[in-house]
Amino acid sequence: MPRLGLGVWQVPDDEAERVVGTALEAGYRSIDTAAAYGNEEGTGRAIARSGVPRAELFVTTKLWNVKTRSWDRDGVLRAFDASLGRLGLDRLDLYLIHWPRPMRDDFLTIWRTFEEIAASGRARAVGVSNFRPQDLERLAEVSALVPAVNQIELHPLFPQAELRALHARLGIATEAWSPLGQGKELLSLPAVTAVAAKHGRTAAQVVLRWHLHHGTVVIPKSVTPARIRENLDVFGFELDAADLAALDALGSGPKGRRLGPDPAEFD
Ligand code: NAD
Repeated sequence: MPRLGLGVWQVPDDEAERVVGTALEAGYRSIDTAAAYGNEEGTGRAIARSGVPRAELFVTTKLWNVKTRSWDRDGVLRAFDASLGRLGLDRLDLYLIHWPRPMRDDFLTIWRTFEEIAASGRARAVGVSNFRPQDLERLAEVSALVPAVNQIELHPLFPQAELRALHARLGIATEAWSPLGQGKELLSLPAVTAVAAKHGRTAAQVVLRWHLHHGTVVIPKSVTPARIRENLDVFGFELDAADLAALDALGSGPKGRRLGPDPAEFD
């Protein structure tokens, strides 16, 4: 799995073809979409037009929360087929359960169906997103198939040390969503801009480098060509111990907090 990919949440379908096309041209090989983002078709069109061999690409999409009821096996299989159809692909690289929705009590049913999908070879890997420690432990009780990935909110203001340690123990890759803190306050904090100035890099590049140092897979989102390229250009420098200490301290500082929904409640 590439360590850095493009996330396309909030990119309208009619813009996705251009945005994903720009990223593929810039050298991205991993794209993170979801049924809920409504842009699987535009993403698929960009992939088809790019000329990049399918074997070089890593395409992730996610099963959305069906409202007001729980998933059953047939519904999951239909949703998977529908995503593949919109993407114009016959195989996914990674299929994720988007949210655990503990109040629906259906993620074990979904996971058993994901086991079937993985066994069929139509998804090279299956995983989860927004799973809490107790959700991962429930999965481990019923299934020998370890999620390849848990995609979670993670950035210097919400570093999730405990969950990362659990992933390392269980053999699950940590993938960070909103790795740039949604491009908001994080990128203008003095602790971040000082490290950026020291290295002659941008704040976004320094934050992405922090993730890579911690072994996190990142999927920054941008629709701006220059930023799409900037976010990939993070493999030519390293942070030193003092930089890492300054960034690591942000999570326990006054600004440290979650930006997105709490998986315990999100339905
Ligand atoms: P992000 O942290 O990637 O921030 C994106 C925003 O940061 C952009 O909209 C832009 O405003 C700004 N930005 C991007 N590059 C920049 C640069 N170089 N300089 C300055 N500003 C820059 O936020 P995100 O979109 O929330 O997360 C990334 C991806 O994670 C999403 O697109 C999606 O694929 C995934 N995601 C998944 C979940 C989930 O529940 N699994 C939830 C949210 C996001």
